[in-house]
Amino acid sequence: MTQYLFTGGRLLDPAQSELLDGMEVLVEGSVIKEVSDRPINGTSATRIDLAGKTLMPGLVDAHVHVVATLVDLAANAELPSSLVALRTAKIMNAMLMRGFTTVRDLAGADIGLKLAVEEGLIDGPRLVICGKALGQTGGHTDYRTRFDNRPLHEASLGALGRICNGIDEVRRGAREEIRNGADFIKIMANGGVASPTDPIHVLQFSREEIIAVVEEANNVGTYVSAHVYTDAAIRRAVECGVHSLEHCNLIEKETAELAAKSGAIACPTLAAYEGLAMEGEAFGLKPDSVAKIETVRRGGLRSLEILRDAGVPMAYGSDLLGQLHKYQSIEFSVRNKVLAANEIVKSATLISAKLCRMEGQIGTLTAGAFADLLVVDGNPFEKISVLEQPENLKVIMKDGRFYKNELAA
Ligand SMILES: [Zn+2]
Repeated sequence: MTQYLFTGGRLLDPAQSELLDGMEVLVEGSVIKEVSDRPINGTSATRIDLAGKTLMPGLVDAHVHVVATLVDLAANAELPSSLVALRTAKIMNAMLMRGFTTVRDLAGADIGLKLAVEEGLIDGPRLVICGKALGQTGGHTDYRTRFDNRPLHEASLGALGRICNGIDEVRRGAREEIRNGADFIKIMANGGVASPTDPIHVLQFSREEIIAVVEEANNVGTYVSAHVYTDAAIRRAVECGVHSLEHCNLIEKETAELAAKSGAIACPTLAAYEGLAMEGEAFGLKPDSVAKIETVRRGGLRSLEILRDAGVPMAYGSDLLGQLHKYQSIEFSVRNKVLAANEIVKSATLISAKLCRMEGQIGTLTAGAFADLLVVDGNPFEKISVLEQPENLKVIMKDGRFYKNELAA
């Protein structure tokens, strides 16, 4: 098996807040074989001299939509699935080249894309999927305009969600997604920006429906993730047993404390609103949606403070659509207005790994983990924005394979 020995750099352990000198890392095949503060005996390994650069785990984005090839999600759902799949391959490749070696897809990606990555057909990040998100009629996956009563294109790859109403239908929806390979279940439990007929404040699904989905997920040993913005929606989701709280822009202190006690993980996605505010309209976001951006954008930074102070772990999320995927990495500097760099690094590694249920396998440089790693020119603990410019990423390795290596030159 191919071995690589990384030496002569500084190691970033996301559990700490300072870089470590004098560490060596041995990669064998697709995994990290050994990490040591003493010289590793790697006679058959190819030595890679880091020349003082930073070796860190590959990044994990815990909220993406790889099949959202357009900002206009209604139009995206009407595209041929073959076209969506091929565009998605490009979107995923760009994610990998930004240093994201694993992404958790929060609606749309299917088992076929996951297998395509595993087979090496697509050079993209490892995928963790929920299949189609479950949403109610008139909810956040219902992209039809007010007077359009045609059925949705639920079967196409470009459709991010499926409509379920009532306990039987949400159970069926959850069971079908699990059968089709979902790693967890996503529900839309609150109004959203990208859908036309649901204001942000509306609650979606009944408590009974949410509890039923949580039971279905728990039955197979996984969890439910909910799209939630308002304090009332977040509180209800936590009370119903939802584990992964997406967005959370309008959360208040008491609810955050309740979420912390329940062991939930939040996944803020502030890059999405920055991206939409900058260019959403230009790329076809409808006026109904544009009007909603500010409501959630305003709460964003405040929510980070509230979540941090309450002790709710935060994963890294970007939640970008279509032409806005290029803003995936600005989440680092947006969060840095409120959070310390080492907290953000932890979000994009250890905490996101937890939401992928791959603790110890990704987001860490420890023996036995996948050899997903980056060599960075700079110290992310001192300046988090070094992770935003691809030119600072000198090496991108996933599964022990180089996707970029500028060190050898
Ligand atoms: Zn999303």
